[in-house]
Amino acid sequence: MSEVLESYAQGSWFAPADEGAPLADANTGETVARISKNGPDVAAMVGYAREVGGPELRKLTFHQRANILKEVAKHLMGYKDEFYALSYRTGANKRDTMVDVDGGFGTLFSFSSKGRRELPNSTVILDGPLEPLSKGGTFVAQHVYTSRPGVAVQINAFNFPVWGMLEKLAPAFLAGLPSIVKPAGQTSYLTVAVVKRMVESGLMPEGSIQLLVGSHRGLLDNLGPQDIVGFTGSAATGALLRDHPNVVSGGVQLNVEADSLNCSILGPDVKAEDPEFDLYVKQVVAEMTVKAGQKCTAIRRVLVPSSMAEAVTEALKDRLAKVVVGAADNPDVRMGALVSLDQREEVRKAVKALRTSSELVFGDPEQVEVLGADAETGAFMSPILLRAEPGAKEPHDIEAFGPVSTVITYDTVAEAVELAARGQGSLVGSLVTNDEDVAREVVLGVAPWHGRVLVLNRDDAKESTGHGSPLPVLVHGGPGRAGGGEEMGGVRGVKHHMQRTAIQGSPDMLTAITGHWTTGSRRSVGDVHPFRKDLSQLRIGDTIESVERAVTRADIDHFAEFTGDTFYAHTDEEAAAANPLFGGIVAHGYLVVSLAAGLFVDPAPGPVLANFGVDNLRFLTPVKEDAVIKVTLTAKQITPRTNAEYGEVRWDAVVTDQDGEAVATYDVLTLVAKGTEQQG
Ligand code: NDP
Repeated sequence: MSEVLESYAQGSWFAPADEGAPLADANTGETVARISKNGPDVAAMVGYAREVGGPELRKLTFHQRANILKEVAKHLMGYKDEFYALSYRTGANKRDTMVDVDGGFGTLFSFSSKGRRELPNSTVILDGPLEPLSKGGTFVAQHVYTSRPGVAVQINAFNFPVWGMLEKLAPAFLAGLPSIVKPAGQTSYLTVAVVKRMVESGLMPEGSIQLLVGSHRGLLDNLGPQDIVGFTGSAATGALLRDHPNVVSGGVQLNVEADSLNCSILGPDVKAEDPEFDLYVKQVVAEMTVKAGQKCTAIRRVLVPSSMAEAVTEALKDRLAKVVVGAADNPDVRMGALVSLDQREEVRKAVKALRTSSELVFGDPEQVEVLGADAETGAFMSPILLRAEPGAKEPHDIEAFGPVSTVITYDTVAEAVELAARGQGSLVGSLVTNDEDVAREVVLGVAPWHGRVLVLNRDDAKESTGHGSPLPVLVHGGPGRAGGGEEMGGVRGVKHHMQRTAIQGSPDMLTAITGHWTTGSRRSVGDVHPFRKDLSQLRIGDTIESVERAVTRADIDHFAEFTGDTFYAHTDEEAAAANPLFGGIVAHGYLVVSLAAGLFVDPAPGPVLANFGVDNLRFLTPVKEDAVIKVTLTAKQITPRTNAEYGEVRWDAVVTDQDGEAVATYDVLTLVAKGTEQQG
């Protein structure tokens, strides 16, 4: 008899005492594993996440967490064959498995990279610029994101047992929130296999991941205002969770990703002979058949101009007729099985409901020819294409979670936008057009109803990742019916798991709290030039106050001639005098910045290795000839890079004139050696 699947709770594997129920192979009906409804103590798991997992994770900086995600992904890559073999048993063929398994690992790599590049090597994220709140500058505010002392409970759907887990886990992990993963029963054996490898790697901090298999009793009962629930699954379960008292009045943040009736619109400009026509047809068929249509991003509504309905329907039928359905591990099979016989029944029921206002134009929900497997014991189904009657309601309300799409016609662009909106909020929509005016009107019309919109034409088709591929760097999730979540989306998804707070106080207090030098706070001018200090010696607030320098007409003339920037404001006295902003010759902004560098730099070889850019450069006051400038440069943020012998230093630069007016402000970005105390 197959083993009963174990949960991973409070740092050890929990085996249920009973023998559980069988989980069937989607292709053959054979038992793959057994699952029990008797799980570990959920309250204890939540407690462990809060008391052990959270503190362990929050000891680490964003960069350290990001590095762990990368190492975990590398470790898992070594077991791909094992995961592929199990994935086939869920009905997913090789193409589908790549999306789930490789897509899941890719998501870890992507979040790792984003975390290291876009987040500080600390535990607090600053949000936006400093907000000055007083004339004297002693009272300011800074928005910050901090990690919540809670837990992320992730309730996943059956369709992506690997990616579905990792797309939620990665941003939560980076945000410093420990995860309790609850996979859908039907395909949980694959999730268990992956979590086993993650745990045995020893890379995940204690308590940062727990796995709850089989049971969901009391899952939300122990949650509170610092906890987040991310749910993917049916609208009915989503509604049940929304009604939970801890969500209604207990402050638990819940994101529901339930049925999304995604549309793809064929632009009114596209004719049958255009390349966009083929692109449209191919894309619809791909989205109907990848994962046998069991995909939250699949195209359910095929919106086409009335005049093109016949041509599109015929082209779709031709292509669908070529789709080979069969055993997931057979390389000639284009579309594998649905996840289970029960799920096939659900899809058949949904098709029946859709047929009350739509005509069946391709496929038979009850029968299909199957390659390399038994059509009786496996959960196979033909692709099903429907054509809606004018005004049909069902296609906008019923999600058949299988290889099912409905062709719906429109007459004007405004009507296409209105039909798209009838999905009441979707994860993704696509538009296939080669007309830029159509693109603008449609995209701006449908964007408020979507988390992601793809515009496909002959120019981007070759490199496009397609309608149905959520990408870790882009928002996944959508408004309204799509649940309001922000799974992925790069750093946006991380922030979605954190708390944003406006901190008000004096500049010195804000510097102390954020570890980031705040304008107006103390500067420390010492005997040693800060460019002589390595990272182990440099401190936030270390400052250079330069000597003064006059900007002469000869300097301006020389710079104009030398660089070729002979713009009239720097060279033509009469024209410059007529300029309402300058009223005479002024120095080039870049001359001012270049002279400032000459004023603050310490030229001898030392710990400063490179200047890799400037941020937020603003020229505030014109510098006329014979103005006298000086610069104040202050260490603002110090970010040691892990696995490198140097780190980044961000310097606050303010150039002022003889009247004390700021003429330019910017951040100078340098790479500085760590020095002996901070190697490694
Ligand atoms: P369910 O809503 O039944 O299950 C989704 C997840 O929720 C599973 O992990 C499930 O666990 C868990 N769950 C079920 N009841 C509860 C509860 N009371 N408290 C906490 N967790 C619970 O959806 P299915 O996976 O069965 O899919 C059914 C339908 O949902 C599909 O046919 C499709 O229409 C839709 N769906 C939509 C998706 C989308 O993103 N658009 C994705 C997947 C499904 P367990 O499996 O142990 O019951």
